[in-house]
Amino acid sequence: DLDLARTDTAIADALTHELNRQRHGLELIASENIVSRAVLQAQGSILTNKYAEGYPGKRYYGGCEYIDVIEQLAIDRAKELFGCAFANVQPHSGAQANSAVLFALLNPGDTLVGMSLAHGGHLTHGAAPTLSGKWLHAVQYGVSAQTQTIDYDEVARLAHEHRPRLIIAGGSAIPRVIDFARFRAIADEVGAYLMVDIAHIAGLVAAGAHPSPFPHAHIVTSTTHKTLRGPRGGLILTNDEAIAKKLNSAVFPGLQGGPLEHVIAAKAVAFGEALSPKFKTYARAVVDNAAALANRLAQSGCGIVSGGTDTHLVLVDLRPKGLTGKAAEQALDRAGITCNKNGIPFDPEKPMITSGIRLGTPACTTRGFGTREFEQVADLIAEMLDVIGKPNEDAVTTAVRAKVNALCEAFPLYPSLR
Ligand code: PLP
Repeated sequence: DLDLARTDTAIADALTHELNRQRHGLELIASENIVSRAVLQAQGSILTNKYAEGYPGKRYYGGCEYIDVIEQLAIDRAKELFGCAFANVQPHSGAQANSAVLFALLNPGDTLVGMSLAHGGHLTHGAAPTLSGKWLHAVQYGVSAQTQTIDYDEVARLAHEHRPRLIIAGGSAIPRVIDFARFRAIADEVGAYLMVDIAHIAGLVAAGAHPSPFPHAHIVTSTTHKTLRGPRGGLILTNDEAIAKKLNSAVFPGLQGGPLEHVIAAKAVAFGEALSPKFKTYARAVVDNAAALANRLAQSGCGIVSGGTDTHLVLVDLRPKGLTGKAAEQALDRAGITCNKNGIPFDPEKPMITSGIRLGTPACTTRGFGTREFEQVADLIAEMLDVIGKPNEDAVTTAVRAKVNALCEAFPLYPSLR
């Protein structure tokens, strides 16, 4: 029913194929989710036409009276959701949000302490190829070899040795609860700011299914599209008015021009949804489902980094199965199960190969999966892992693909979308 189907068949066809891919596959990428029709509607709206450089009430363009209503609602809902005093909803992405914090608080050559990508941190926390790694002196901490959880003693040691201006907590492959109070104590000892990047766990934090970084963090950054289940975008939060002013200037005009008000409207819708009691139930289910998935995979002989999970994600160590992450990702993809290869702490394999896969429960939990379905998902994964490279791989892939289809049909996705 889209006009697009007539005006641009190449894009319309690819879009239809992507809808079918999402409908008929098990989405286990930990950073993905499935937004509501309301979020899609807001983002696909006429707000895309509007320029609105500046902030509500202080714009560089006319005609912003309704845009101001929308952005102010997004700000107010974000503040209520995370219990803080200031929110900037304009960053185009999580990486932009993090860059804005660096731009606001640090000068080129300053020192930051962040978690290494190889141990679960994010690229923007000081990895060599990024702005954070190139323009700053980035010192990286990791997890302890024994517990595979954050090595707080190492964080403290590096902080005292390097006296950073900023310490960053959070990351992309951290299955366990982070001790924010401990991070703040370390930051205070050395006079550093503490930034917590809750991109992955924002929905859990909003719903009380993971401890809040407030009041410990000076600044909190996030994406809006992972567990928070909104449009793709970024978010910055703080309780400190002076920091808030610097952050606003760093986002605009520091790093960005016109805000994406259609995306900001979709953020407001998602924040509104996340304020509802139903979202608390959802976030709790995300965590319970991840625990069920991890337990069942452990029973099938997979290694589970840190021995389990407290969050939405499970980091699977495939070495007990004699497999690489690359081989597992590709085999699972052929069976309609989407995930990503992921390095495990102290991984002997290269980043494009890896010894692990990262699995997450946010998307399938949105579809309605409970622990029973996730145990079934674990069994399907185990079935695939056990035949990779064996003569019966193709036959088992076909059988698993059929079971994946049956699961997907039992939990239909966007049934009224065509
Ligand atoms: N921070 C963390 C912890 C992330 O996991 C991600 C995304 O993977 C980002 C920041 C960057 O977000 P984006 O992809 O929206 O730039």
